[in-house]
Formats: sequence, structure tokens, C-alpha cells
Amino acid sequence: MESATPVIVAIDGPAGTGKSSTSKAVAAQLGLSYLDTGAQYRAITWWMVNNGIDIDDPAAIAAAAGKPEIVSGTDPQAPTISVDGVDVAGPIRTQEVSAKVSAVSAVPEVRARITELQRSIAASAANGVVVEGRDIGTTVLPDADLKIFLTASPEARAARRSGELKGADVHSTREALIKRDAADSSRKTSPLAKADDAVEVDTTELTLAQVIECVVTLVEEKRAGK
Ligand code: C5P
Repeated sequence: MESATPVIVAIDGPAGTGKSSTSKAVAAQLGLSYLDTGAQYRAITWWMVNNGIDIDDPAAIAAAAGKPEIVSGTDPQAPTISVDGVDVAGPIRTQEVSAKVSAVSAVPEVRARITELQRSIAASAANGVVVEGRDIGTTVLPDADLKIFLTASPEARAARRSGELKGADVHSTREALIKRDAADSSRKTSPLAKADDAVEVDTTELTLAQVIECVVTLVEEKRAGK
């Protein structure tokens, strides 16, 4: 679909709500770029772990925050993520990175660096972009054309995530998700939160196809009203 005006869509919410699958599909269907901001925080976390930075030391994380070069490929059909030229799409999905990412992403110097990167990627997307994360509607792109906040029950989120992790134990996945949400929601700098003007979509009882259709319709309505 060709578009006259670039459209900026912010999709936020906790893990396991179908954010990534929805964001990629909506971007592909509407001819928009796609940015996975969680992948960027995971990439910087992966770099910290690999470079021996103490994850429990925010000052050490802050001092190193400017060092890694993080590059995101924004094609929704084949998104990429690299650090200093190394493809880290696989390594950033390990349980070790998942367990450590909240501590790294809570450090203000990390957020400032990654937020700047995100804004410049969004500004250079010719047709517009779907940006998924935790603080996109509240902090990164407060002027987004459309803001969506996805939610789902903890049970639904754990079941989806353990399915993605190919049969990981649902109970421990649920505990890990709840712990990560609590850390992400309670941090001082731009916590996980719904923007006042975001549309909340509870995905607990919806299929992925239904969520995608709902968001595509909301984007099209926005575009028509422009
Ligand atoms: O989306 P994903 O689960 O891959 O995100 C990994 C982590 O990155 C989150 O748990 C959170 O700590 C951090 N994050 C963030 N702000 C964003 C996106 C992700 O702090 N906009």
C-alpha cells in the first residue's frame, strides 16, 4: 500500500501479549518499517555480558553504555539486529539475556542512548513505521499517530511464551515474566506504562489474526481521518 503521509504507530505492552507478531504483521500488511526496541535492549545487554560488565553495577553499565554500535534492520519480513557488526538475533533470546535485560534497560544512560537511536530510525522511515516496546507511546514517540497498548492475562502470556520457547515449563516462564514486568514497570526512568491516549487491546481471548485485524483497522481509520 502506498501512503502519502508517513504514519507512526507505537505498540507497547508487557511480554507475551503478541506484540512482536502483531507489530511485524501490521507493518508488512501496510508497507511500513518495523522496529523491535526490545531487541535493542537485549543487544546492549548481550554486549555487557560478553564484555564482562557487572550487571549489578549501574555505574559500570552507564560508563559502557556508549560503546557498542547497535544496528537494527527494519524490514518487517526479515528484521535484523547486530552489535559491532555481529548478528546477535539468536544470542539475544537466551534465558540469560532475558533475566538480565531489565537491570540494563533501567539505567538512564542506556535508555538515553537507545531512545536517541529509536527516534532517528523512526524519523528516517519513508512510509512510516511500527515501533514496538514498553515506553514508545509515553516517551520515545509521544506524538505517534496511533498508540496501542496490548495486554493479556499472565496465564495467556506465559502459555504463549513457553510455546515460543518450544515447551519451556509454563510455571517458571510465568514467574520469570511476572518478575520482568515488575522490574520494567517500577523502574524510575520511562517505565512500562500505557500512554493516556493509547487504545488498550486485551488479547487474552483473541487469536493473533484477530489482534492484527484490529490494529490494521485502527491504523486505516487514522489514515483516513488525516
Ligand atoms: O520486548 P522484549 O521482551 O524483547 O524486551 C526485552 C526487555 O527490554 C524488556 O523486558 C525491558 O526491560 C526492555 N525494554 C525497555 N523498553 C522498551 C523495550 C524493551 O525497557 N521500549
